[in-house]
Amino acid sequence: MKLMMLGAPGAGKGTQAESLSKELSIPTISTGVMLRRAVADATPAGLEMKEYMDRGALVPDLIVLKILEERLEQPDCADGYILDGVPRNVTQAASLEQDGIVFDHVVLLDVADEEIISRMAGRRSCPQCGATYHVDNMPPKVEHVCDKCGATLVRRDDDAPEKVQKRLKVYHDETEPLVAHFEAAGILCRIKSSGTPAKILDEILKVVRT
Ligand code: AMP
Repeated sequence: MKLMMLGAPGAGKGTQAESLSKELSIPTISTGVMLRRAVADATPAGLEMKEYMDRGALVPDLIVLKILEERLEQPDCADGYILDGVPRNVTQAASLEQDGIVFDHVVLLDVADEEIISRMAGRRSCPQCGATYHVDNMPPKVEHVCDKCGATLVRRDDDAPEKVQKRLKVYHDETEPLVAHFEAAGILCRIKSSGTPAKILDEILKVVRT
């Protein structure tokens, strides 16, 4: 099964993708996580990407598509995958379609901008494995420590309030046109991203398992 998670930054795509990955036994592929790893490795390409990410802008399509293409060739993707954060614009979607990639479902997590801004203020992320938490709604078992790998949690630079505003604008301008794109293809399912993560997961599973 091939799924794509669509929605604004902070809509809960990463959290739901991780749960879906366990339920469906297919990997989650997050370009945001892969790009942050490349930045942490401080390669020349990583440093170039950092400049875009720090501004809350999208990294150029060719760079992202190359990283994604290499990842999708790995054997664990043979039975399907969940894409989180990609495609991020119509050009990327068209490129994946040219490669013959057809999603079974595109899950749109719907959240108002005001709610996103308040959620992002409390979001904490693991710099090592990419897991995300929220100081109030989804805290780690031990304060500041990742449940999965034990690394110290941080607030991502691009989760600072002024960067969130910029990322929301980029989402509305560049990524939101994908809603109409996938609606026209008849594969979009809209889920209100409110309530507990478990309730949202149930709603998604109802759609993808039918
Ligand atoms: P995310 O973790 O998905 O919110 O991504 C964090 C940042 O990584 C974004 O603000 C972009 O700068 C970059 N990024 C992630 N995925 C993509 C993508 N598919 N295309 C372009 N830039 C991306």
